[in-house]
Amino acid sequence: MPFLDHVLQQPAYGWQDAGGTLIKPTSGEILREFSNRLNIFKDKRNWLPFFSWFKVFCLIPFFMVFLSSYLTWWTVLAAFIYSMIIMGTHGTIWHHRYCTHGAYKFRNPFWRFFTQNLTINVIPEEIYVISHHVHHAKSDQPGDPYNAQAGFLYCFLADVNHQPIAKDLSEADNNRVKLLMQHTGVTPNTYTQYQKWGSYVNPLSAVKSWLLNWLFWYLAFYLVGGHPLACSLLERQVFGRLAYGHSTMKVMQKEKINSGRELTFVRMTNPLTSYGLE
Ligand SMILES: [Zn+2]
Repeated sequence: MPFLDHVLQQPAYGWQDAGGTLIKPTSGEILREFSNRLNIFKDKRNWLPFFSWFKVFCLIPFFMVFLSSYLTWWTVLAAFIYSMIIMGTHGTIWHHRYCTHGAYKFRNPFWRFFTQNLTINVIPEEIYVISHHVHHAKSDQPGDPYNAQAGFLYCFLADVNHQPIAKDLSEADNNRVKLLMQHTGVTPNTYTQYQKWGSYVNPLSAVKSWLLNWLFWYLAFYLVGGHPLACSLLERQVFGRLAYGHSTMKVMQKEKINSGRELTFVRMTNPLTSYGLE
């Protein structure tokens, strides 16, 4: 079986039926898969999607404090500029253009680290990168991790249900994952660690970079504009995650009037899709 056919963990409802037709799971099936795949007590190899959603969950208090205490015209303006320009640009230049497509190179690893940490760390690189290669190979076909034809929820929860790498890769396939990921600078697991944790990224290193990244940005924003600015900009990442769903809906609206080929074009040119749908 070609590598891109099995590199992602297949959801319990499967990608396609025996006739090769896309399986469109019900909302109940999608939500059941979502809760199973976030259950780290059942299988600790679920840690990476859990970690990603845990980070979003940790940002909710910042949003509440922003709404209750820091809602002023200048914090709203700062949050708007940050989310529309900086977060969107980062999704495109880091996760998409560099990590996935290798569109440019860094001469100095410092600038790679700098670019990686230009915004608050939420979306794990491997969840974006590996699944995006599959998406390009199977756009709008069964196996496309965010296939708009299977509906909004199918795409909205794809980072948990469809985008993580498979947990039973052979050492050779795990090495191919490494080849797709090594230029990102993310610290990898050994094959033995992968068998234990089910991810490319080493868990300890992921937790360390998360804490350092958030501490750095909170302090930097605080020094510029105190707690009001720090809260206003951190809570924006909650909406960075929700942008998945928003862009999915836009794609689905376009789908009604375009052919499959044109749909792909819409995805690749829509700037709102920088978090996963290009
Ligand atoms: Zn792409």
